[in-house]
Amino acid sequence: MECIFCNIKDKKAEAEIIFEDEHVLAFLDIQPVNYGHTLVIPKKHYDNFLTVPKDELDKLIHATQFIAGVVKRSLKADGFNIISNNGHTAGQSVYHFHMHIIPRFHNDFTIKPMVKAYASGALREYGEQIRSLISKYKDIYIG
Ligand code: 5GP
Ligand code: ZN
Repeated sequence: MECIFCNIKDKKAEAEIIFEDEHVLAFLDIQPVNYGHTLVIPKKHYDNFLTVPKDELDKLIHATQFIAGVVKRSLKADGFNIISNNGHTAGQSVYHFHMHIIPRFHNDFTIKPMVKAYASGALREYGEQIRSLISKYKDIYIG
């Protein structure tokens, strides 16, 4: 299936590339939330966060840290958000895994969904529900 980020990686589609090495590519988002909004992708195609192999993810996270620091410093940003949307419901629109680096400036905008309150006992129940699958799957976690 056609993938716009694979096309950018293969230089079949244009992008404002700011960093590239053997494993990772970073370029500016064409619809930035703030100017300098950057996307970091693995060169190999993986659909989302859960399908990226550990070695690739290590490299991607390390590159994201480096690029976030450079974006912040070069744009004199006050901070930054690192966001990864996974799944349609979570806002993912391109199914080639990527990290967003969004430079933030004092008083630019707020991203603050309404918080929920746990009913009595519900915090424990949610904990139990998640822990039960942690036990089931912990063998596939390589720390
Ligand atoms: P998602 O919605 O999947 O988390 O993020 C996809 C991002 O890719 C969006 O912010 C969108 O603006 C950006 N995007 C989509 N198509 C292109 C493109 O052709 N070039 C660039 N540079 N960014 C793109
Ligand atoms: Zn792709």
